[in-house]
Amino acid sequence: MSLDNRCGHTEVQNEQKCCDSSLPEQNHSYANMLKVLDACAEKLGVCWDDYVPLRYPERELTVSIPVEMDDGHVKVFTGYRVQHSSVRGPCKGGLRYSSDVDLDEVRTLAALMTWKCAVVNIPYGGAKGGVQCDPTKLSSQELMRITRRYTAMILPLIGPEKDIPAPDVNTNAQIMGWIMDTYSAFKGFTVPGVVTGKPVEIGGSLGREDATGRGVLFTINQIALKKGIDLNKASFAVQGFGKVGEAIARLLYQEGYRVVAISDISGGIYKEDGLDILDLSNYVKKNPSHLIEGYKAEGISSLANQELLTLGVDILVPSARENQITEDNAGDIKAKIIVEAANGPTTPEADQILNEKGITVVPDILSNAGGVVVSYLEWVQNIQCLMWDEKKVNSFLQEIMERSFQEVWEFHEQNKVPMREAAYMLALDRTIKARKIRGNFP
Ligand code: NAD
Repeated sequence: MSLDNRCGHTEVQNEQKCCDSSLPEQNHSYANMLKVLDACAEKLGVCWDDYVPLRYPERELTVSIPVEMDDGHVKVFTGYRVQHSSVRGPCKGGLRYSSDVDLDEVRTLAALMTWKCAVVNIPYGGAKGGVQCDPTKLSSQELMRITRRYTAMILPLIGPEKDIPAPDVNTNAQIMGWIMDTYSAFKGFTVPGVVTGKPVEIGGSLGREDATGRGVLFTINQIALKKGIDLNKASFAVQGFGKVGEAIARLLYQEGYRVVAISDISGGIYKEDGLDILDLSNYVKKNPSHLIEGYKAEGISSLANQELLTLGVDILVPSARENQITEDNAGDIKAKIIVEAANGPTTPEADQILNEKGITVVPDILSNAGGVVVSYLEWVQNIQCLMWDEKKVNSFLQEIMERSFQEVWEFHEQNKVPMREAAYMLALDRTIKARKIRGNFP
């Protein structure tokens, strides 16, 4: 595919961009996403009328969630579900629980899901959900009541053919199980396909827990081949040691690779000749806080979170939260390659600095797509009442990740654009083509 001008009307219309008050552009993170998208649309030479609907989320729901706490008082939480696009299929996206979740963040992450599903070419659109709460201060029963009431409140929006939630920051397989049970109770029959990332006992897929991390590992193998890096001699730093970061570090370790630094919200640790990740994982599992704080082993030193990002490693894998690599620290980054496992860890300003420094960034919508790919495989199994073995799941995952990487890489080389732009341009092109085939309604 070349950067052709398909309708002669290619300018992103600045007047509409600035004056359209219905578009949530003033908010920081959605505005950042639009900046990238607009630039890609312009480079693709797409017609404005074909592109403009994709700048707007299709549907947004804000709900209040009254919950009886363990001490008997009622607390009201706020929740969101945003469906950015259903052009290429049912909406798909995770659910996060965090005190700083807001509509802007959820909306941005929903859009990222649209581009992620398009870049790996699975038949889904994008969505995201969030509940403003601090799970560390909630009992398991309170978490369950929040989850069930949130599910009831967003019930009209979700379903296997409509919108399928999955785990994200601070949510897990158990929470997906409660969503599935609540939805099924309303329907009057069991509907496994309403969520993915469920426990295997109730229709979850083998291989789903490690899927995002395994997808990142396949991506690391691919970029190392392209860049001529011998992974047996390479050093890795992983920021974040949750569902994604722990799986990446563990899989790298099991491949025999040297992970020299790890951090989580409680701080970081470093060991020049490589950390024992299995030992660290066991410690974190048993630690009541589920954090690396207090971990002791021979030869390790402690590290501030910001220090981890600027270590002289070969490959840096941010796997924690968004906006970690900013214009303030991008200039100090020494890694040769950044493989984004978190969503949106790099700000657009930082991205530019990294490009100028010649650091290759493999973008989130490509490298962390393994989670949604195996979610798709889980959903396919659910709606057909199938159960595949883990080998089959991992082999599909590998095939899709490697094919997608190759497509983005070729686009990046042919069009001489950074990998992030290549991924967005491919995703945008696929989504616009789908929209044009469906046409405008009415
Ligand atoms: P999680 O809640 O399981 O883990 C988050 C980890 O990040 C924890 O270890 C936490 O301590 C750490 N952390 C938080 N703030 C930090 C900071 N400032 N510095 C260092 N560490 C910090 O969440 P997760 O599911 O592992 O998700 C991590 C990222 O990956 C998010 O951006 C998420 O959107 C993205 N993601 C998740 C999945 C998935 O399948 N879970 C799929 C694709 C992308």
